[in-house]
Amino acid sequence: MSDMSDLVGVLREQSGEFVALRRDIHRHPELGFQEFRTSDLVAQRLEEWGYEVTRGLGGTGVVGQLRRGNGQRRLGLRADMDALPIHEATGLPHASVHAGLMHACGHDGHTAILLAAARHIAQSVDFDGTLNLIFQPAEEGLGGAKKMMQDGLFERFPCDAIFAMHNMPGFPRGTLQLREGPTMAASENITITLRGVGGHGAMPHVAVDPVVAGSAIVMGLQTIVSRNVAPLQMSVITVGSFQAGMANNVIPHEAVLKLSVRSLDREVHQLLLRRIGELVDLQARSYGVEATVDFQGGYPVLVNTRAETDFARQVAVDLVGADLVTLQTDPLTGSEDFAFMLDEVPGSYLFIGNGDKATGGHGACMVHNPHYDFDDANIPVGAAYWSLLTQRYLAG
Ligand SMILES: [Zn+2]
Ligand SMILES: [Zn+2]
Repeated sequence: MSDMSDLVGVLREQSGEFVALRRDIHRHPELGFQEFRTSDLVAQRLEEWGYEVTRGLGGTGVVGQLRRGNGQRRLGLRADMDALPIHEATGLPHASVHAGLMHACGHDGHTAILLAAARHIAQSVDFDGTLNLIFQPAEEGLGGAKKMMQDGLFERFPCDAIFAMHNMPGFPRGTLQLREGPTMAASENITITLRGVGGHGAMPHVAVDPVVAGSAIVMGLQTIVSRNVAPLQMSVITVGSFQAGMANNVIPHEAVLKLSVRSLDREVHQLLLRRIGELVDLQARSYGVEATVDFQGGYPVLVNTRAETDFARQVAVDLVGADLVTLQTDPLTGSEDFAFMLDEVPGSYLFIGNGDKATGGHGACMVHNPHYDFDDANIPVGAAYWSLLTQRYLAG
C-alpha cells in the first residue's frame, strides 16, 4: 500500500509540466478530426520518450508503442483528444483562445494524464511485452474510435486488453469508480422524413397532411418503450426535433423528425430499431404519407468485461485504497465511443472523480457546460493508475 501511495506522490512531483501541458491544450481546443495541433504535440512528446509513433489512423489519431523484453502480452491504453463547440465561460487564465470552442469534457485532461503516464512508464517502469498508447480523435459523437479501427488499429497494434478513463464531475476528486458489464448506453440517431401532399389549410381533404401523421408517429413511438421493451430494461426514445410547415393556413408537404434512441442491451437496441422502422412505415401508410427512415448509426453499449474490470479494480484499490474506489451501481444513459473498441477487445472503462460540492470550483460543474474545467489534481492519480496497471498487466 505505502509503495503505491508513493507512486501517486512520485507522479505528483513530476506533474507540473503536465499541468502546464493540459492548460496549453485547454487553451487551444480542436474539434473532432481537426486535432492537428494536439496530435502534433502528443506525437512529438511520445517520440522524445522513445515510443515508436504511428500517425494518421482515423485522420488525427496517434499510436505510441513501447516494446520491452520478449513478453507476448499486449496492452492498450486509450485517451481522447477532441473539444466541443461550446463558448467557454470559466474566465480562467487558461481559458480557450478560440471563440466557440472549448475542452468542456476534460479530454485535455485525459490526454495529459496518458502523456504523464507515458513518460513515467518509459523512464521508470519495468515491464515485459508491448504497450500501445492510443490517442483517438473525435470522441464527441463522430466515432473517432471506429475510424481508427477501420484504419486497422487492432490489426496493426493487436491488444489483449484495453483500458480507458473519463473524469466525472460530482464525485470527489481522485476517487475511482468502475462497473462490470453494461456501463454506458448504446445510442442511435434517426431522421424520419414524411412526405404528403401540401395544400390549403381550409381544404385538408384534398391534401395529405404529414403533420397529423407525424404527430401519431411521435405518440406511437412511445408505445415501443412501454409495450415492446421489457419493463426492467432501460430504453429511451426522444423526438428532439419535429419540423414542418410555416403558416397557419398551409398544409406542408413534408415533416422531418429527429430522434435519439438509447438502451443498455444489444438485443433491446436491435428491438428498438426494428420496431421504429415497422411502426413508422405502417403508421405512415395508414395516413397515406410516404416515409423514409434514415438510421444514422451511433455508439454501441459500452460493456466492461469481468476479468479486466476485476483487474482494474484491484489496481485502483492498491493505488488509492479501498475507501476511494467505488463500485458504480447504475449504468449511465450517456454514450462513449470506447464502446466500439470494447466490442472487439476485452477491457474496462473507469471514472475518476473531478470534484464535488465540497471541493467546489469548476471541477464539480458538469461536463459539456461552459463553466466546466478539468481538475489538474487528477493528473498524478490518473497517471499513477496507468503506470501501475501497465506494470501489473505486462509483468515479466
Ligand atoms: Zn463529452
Ligand atoms: Zn468526454
